[in-house]
Order: sequence, then C-alpha cells, then structure tokens
Amino acid sequence: MSLLGSVARGVLTRLAPRACFRHVLATGGGEAKARLSVTFDCDLDEDYRDLPVLLDGLKKRNLCTAFACIGDRMRAAPDLHRRMVAEGHEILNHTQTHPWAYETSAEAFRAELQAAHETCLAVTGQAPVGFRMPHFGNPRVYAVVEKGAFYGDLAALGYRCSSSAMAGRCREGGKPFRVSGVWELPLSPCPLHPFGILDSYHSVQSPEACHRGPGEFEGLLTELLEEGLRRRAYLNVYLDPCDVANRKGFWDFLDRARSQLEMPTYSQVLGTLA
Ligand SMILES: [Zn+2]
Ligand SMILES: [Zn+2]
Repeated sequence: MSLLGSVARGVLTRLAPRACFRHVLATGGGEAKARLSVTFDCDLDEDYRDLPVLLDGLKKRNLCTAFACIGDRMRAAPDLHRRMVAEGHEILNHTQTHPWAYETSAEAFRAELQAAHETCLAVTGQAPVGFRMPHFGNPRVYAVVEKGAFYGDLAALGYRCSSSAMAGRCREGGKPFRVSGVWELPLSPCPLHPFGILDSYHSVQSPEACHRGPGEFEGLLTELLEEGLRRRAYLNVYLDPCDVANRKGFWDFLDRARSQLEMPTYSQVLGTLA
C-alpha cells in the first residue's frame, strides 16, 4: 500500500466521506437488484456467550447467513457449530488459530487453512465454502490480502469464495470479482469511513469505536441499505455476535432490511455469478 494512497484516503475521509461512500456504491452498483448479506465473525469468548441468542433471533426470522469460525473454537464448542449448520448457516474458514497473516509464512498459512478445513468437516460434517482473513482491517494484514497469494491455496482446497476485501479499496467497488478462480465478495464501506468497512468492531466495540452514540450504528447501517437500494448494489457486512445479539436496534434494522431486499447466503450469491 502506498504512503500517498493512505494519505489521500485520510484526507478524503476527513473532507468528503459521504461523497466517497456514494462513489463506491455507484461503482459497484447497477446489478439486477440490490441484495444484502449480513455475516458474523466469531472470535471472542463474548461472541460465543451471545451466539445462542443470535442464532435464536436468526431462526425466528428464517434467515440463513455465514459465520467465520476459527478451528480451535470449533473444537471447543462443537455443539454450537453443529447447530449453525443444522439451521442452514454456512461456516467460513477463519483459519485454525486466527494468526496475523503478515507474520505467518506461506507454508504455515496454508497449514492453518488446511487444519481449519479439516476441523470444520470433522466437527460439523460439512466443509466450508468460503474464507475470511483474520484481522484483515489491520493495514499490514490488508497488504497480504491485496497481494492475494492465499487465493491459490483456497482454490486448491476447492473453495469458491473469500470475503476479505474492502469495497472502498477495490476497483469495482463492492462487485464480486475473481482471483485465481475464487470469488472475492468485498465488504461494504462505512458511510463515514468509506475506505474501511461498516463492521461493528470499529463502530461500537473497539476502545476507539467511532459510532457509539445512541442509534448511530443503526443509522449508518440504514444509510448503507438505502444507498444500496438506490444504486442496486450488492451489500455485504460482517458483525461480531457480541456487539449485536442483544441490540434491539440491530434486530429492527434486520427486519427492515428483510422487508426491502433479498438477503442471500454466500452460496446463494455464488449461484448467481457467472
Ligand atoms: Zn476474526
Ligand atoms: Zn465508520
């Protein structure tokens, strides 16, 4: 990543975030119709504490999605992962131990993918279809994503998709694109941080969380939804279970989204890509 690029992104984020946000959605828009995938990353003890509530809420709404899961955690809580699969959700390979990709050798990273793949199969009886890079919002990790060497490893394991890129950093915005035969489904931008993503970590969880005001996070999700509808874009967000499972505003947002557009799983999205 060039220094110039990161300085330019910083300036644009400060001066005209919403113009950049709308540009990203317009670039990725023009699909047959707007769609939204809401997915989850399960990294923390708190996520596992709140997963039953989250799964109950999704089941009540008949909504299937994807959960990025770490192999070691799948082994530690096999019943919850079996429940995900039994209720129609997809599990994304999130590596075996959630390492920092920039300090992991190519061989060791391949072994991480392979181990998580085998763990998921052993625990749930189902092999993952997709992958998400651990810690990918970190600039050094994102440099690994942009280099893209791991897509070849995913292809070799028979994977069909990854969701590890940021729409605001992709030439075609949020439009899915292919790398080494694997579809990358980029994550949608935050209206106020258009070169980053609208995840719950930067919004409400991190010590420097930016959107903690009452209703602020839901307001940004709604803004994304409305711009996506206007531009007929594919929207893709990931949230951490502990940030949303007990948040009424999140469930209200989900109900609103369900009434306005299709909410496909990644497999369903893949089914519509050429
Ligand atoms: Zn993670
Ligand atoms: Zn933001």
